[in-house]
Formats: sequence, structure tokens, C-alpha cells
Amino acid sequence: MTRRIVIVGAGIVGSSLARELAGRDGCHVTVLDRAPAGRLYGSTGHAPGYVGVLGEAPVLTELARATVRIYRGLTDDYDGTGGGRERAGAGFEETGCLEVATTPAAYETLQGRAAVAQTAGLAARLVGPEEAAALAPRLVDPDTAVAGLHFPGDGTARAGLLTAVQRRRAEARGAEFADGAEATGLEIRAGRVHGVWLADGTLVPADDTVLASGIWGPLLAARAGVDLPLTPVSHPYVYGGPRPARHPRGPFVRWPEHHAYARDHGDRDGIGTYDHDLRPVAPADLGVRAEEPWPGEPFDGAVAAALALLPPAHRFAPAVRLNGVFSVTPDNLPLLGPFTGLPGLWSATAIWVTHAAGAAAALAEAMDGGEPGAGLAALAPDRFAGEPAGELRRRALRHYRDIYAAG
Ligand SMILES: Cc1cc2nc3c(=O)[nH]c(=O)nc-3n(C[C@H](O)[C@H](O)[C@H](O)COP(=O)(O)OP(=O)(O)OC[C@H]3O[C@@H](n4cnc5c(N)ncnc54)[C@H](O)[C@@H]3O)c2cc1C
Repeated sequence: MTRRIVIVGAGIVGSSLARELAGRDGCHVTVLDRAPAGRLYGSTGHAPGYVGVLGEAPVLTELARATVRIYRGLTDDYDGTGGGRERAGAGFEETGCLEVATTPAAYETLQGRAAVAQTAGLAARLVGPEEAAALAPRLVDPDTAVAGLHFPGDGTARAGLLTAVQRRRAEARGAEFADGAEATGLEIRAGRVHGVWLADGTLVPADDTVLASGIWGPLLAARAGVDLPLTPVSHPYVYGGPRPARHPRGPFVRWPEHHAYARDHGDRDGIGTYDHDLRPVAPADLGVRAEEPWPGEPFDGAVAAALALLPPAHRFAPAVRLNGVFSVTPDNLPLLGPFTGLPGLWSATAIWVTHAAGAAAALAEAMDGGEPGAGLAALAPDRFAGEPAGELRRRALRHYRDIYAAG
């Protein structure tokens, strides 16, 4: 008998999950997304794509390792240009990451990180300020850097490209993607989810329904009477104007004690910061895109402070300002697995690009009745059941600035 699996959300998580499940014995996979074909309305469309393997919890490190393995294998046979072949590794580039300390206290933190990386079996090397500046000359100021910690195995993802590749592979295995399909509710009978209602009044029947709907996850969950404790929060990232392209790109750079990070995008630079007053967005106030209007302050001031970390000659005027929205959770971990109180419903939300493919593989394994892997129980979406929503939201927002978290 066919097992009908419906995934709500065709971002990097939903598309990765579709590729994992499609073609498995007896599974038919349908992916619903309200965005038109080829458009990414969710957070995936905005991520500058830092992929840092060392997570704050071992389970995150494992998911990131698995994700990098999958991303590396994704682009080598991608033909996304109507005839031309994408360069191998175009979706994930092993640029490395450089964490920079500008104070002795921050250097101590880097030393601790280096030890944790070693225990996790990850390559990481402490470097002096000159070497740090040599690794990323446009981004690291040797006059203010005290030291750096270089992770050569980290990289940057082109999340949109990876999502498109995952979708093509899922489709090649028989998955169907319904574009422009807005899910408005879940069909619940006898305490079990049996499908998804669409805005046009049709019911898409399902034996299993997966919420891979990112920041919008709590809205559909609430209509089924279930709490999904993620908090959408808005985050500034700005791009400079175009400049001569450079290959290979330099490493992603993070200044943990300043809550800021920057990326060499090849033909322009970008910088993001968490060092501003929190701007949560109530799920009910979200539009259909994971983007909010640029507020001026507090983002302007925070971006100016982040830009001041760059070498004076390479500070740039923002040409594009993005106020993107992503999710935080009370313990900074994804919400991945079944809702035990509502059979037939699963969550794959609050997952970073960094962990998306590995999380999808682990969830597919769990849905297939296999061994989901150590640590996955810690990600159960109902692990906070019974705790007051306001307190969970406060805890989640406390993690926003934690640059050592997911990415
Ligand atoms: C500015 C910014 C910077 C970031 N930087 C990084 C980074 O450097 N590294 C990193 O790893 N991560 C980063 N992230 C986080 C990352 O982008 C997200 O965690 C990830 O893309 C989430 O993917 P997703 O597939 O779960 O969700 P999304 O990409 O949001 O996809 C959810 C999809 O669900 C669809 N949907 C929702 N509700 C419905 C409905 N009712 N009916 C139909 N369709 C629906 C939406 O249209 C959307 O396409 C960043 C995010 C932002 C915004």
C-alpha cells in the first residue's frame, strides 16, 4: 500500500526531506509551498550561507557533518542552466571559517573552542593576527585582531542552488511539488492527522504530514491545537556594491565577542550582526516572505559598528540592506521529529542551512522506522510541553545573540 507523505514547505529543509523520502519503498511524496515555482519566499532565500560544523551541542555537530557530506555530493552533476553544467562544489564551497578575537578574554574563548573542536575530531588551528589578516585580507584588521581560530573544513552554501538541486533529485525519484499551494489547515479525525487543507478548499490526503514551514510552522500547528515553540526574529545583513571578483573566496569571518560576521561573496562583501535590540516578529504578523522592512535604527547603528571591525580601507557603504527573519528556540536546537500527542504529524522546523540535509536524512530514517541516530530524542518538537509559552519565548530570544550557536 502506498504511504502518502505531505511536506508543507519547499525551502532547503522540505526539499531535502523530499529527496530523502522519495523513492523509498511505498512512499509517495507531495511538497506544498505557497510560493510560485522557482521562488523561495522563506528564510532559505536570504541566508548568506555560513556552514560552521562545530555546534554548541554534539547533536548539532553531527547534523552539520552529515549535511556537509550531502551538500558536497549534490552539485557535481547539477545541470541548472539549461545545458551548462554547474561547477563541482558550486553549492557548497569549503572556504573555511575564521573566528577573530579582538581582546585577550575573547582569545581565551577561542582557545576553549579549539579544544572542543579537537575533541570533536574537527580540524581547527589558532593563528596570530598577521596570519588571520593574510587569510582574509579584506575582512580582518591586523591592527585590532589579537588572534584567530581557523576552521578549514567550514564553508559557505548557496542555499537557493542547493534547494533547487534537492528538488530536482526528489522529482527525479517521483516526488511532486505543488507550487502556489497555500496550506490553511490540517484534517484531523479520531485524534490523527489525515491531510492538509489548501486555500482553494481542496484536501491533500496524507498518512504523514511534515511541517517544514520554517518561521510559519507555529501557525499551522496552532490550527491543529499544537504548540510549536519557535520564535521568528528579524536579523540584519547588508551587502556592499559590486567589486572585481576573486577566486577562491576567502573564509567566512566571525567576531564572536562583537556578535558580528562577514562573508566574501566573490564579487562583493557582506556583513551581518546580532548586536542590536531584539526584534521578534509575532507569527500572526508575518507576511508570506521571511523579510521585514528595514527599520533604520537599531539596525543602522549595529551595522555601522560591525563595519568598523573591517580594515579601514575595506569598509563599504551598504548597497543592499536585508532584514531577514529566522527562528530561534528555547534551547537553540531544531524541532525535529513526531508530535507524540498527534499521530501523523511531524516537525522539521527551526533548522539552519548548516543542518538541513543532515536533519532531513535523520528524520527520513525515523519516519521509515529506522534508527534515527543518537541525540535525535533531544530534538523532539514537544520536548517543552507544559512550559508556559511566554517563558519559552523569552528563553528562545536569549539565544539570538549567541554567535557560537547554529551559525
Ligand atoms: C538573514 C538570514 C541569515 C541567515 N544566515 C544563515 C547562515 O549563515 N547559515 C545558516 O545555516 N542559516 C542561516 N540562516 C537561517 C536559514 O536561512 C534557515 O534556518 C533555513 O533556511 C530554514 O529553512 P526551511 O526550509 O526550514 O525554511 P524556509 O526556507 O523558510 O522554507 C519554509 C517554506 O514553507 C513555505 N510555507 C510556510 N507556510 C506555508 C503554508 N501555510 N502553505 C504553503 N507553504 C508554506 C514558505 O513559503 C517557505 O518556502 C539565515 C537566515 C536569515 C533570514
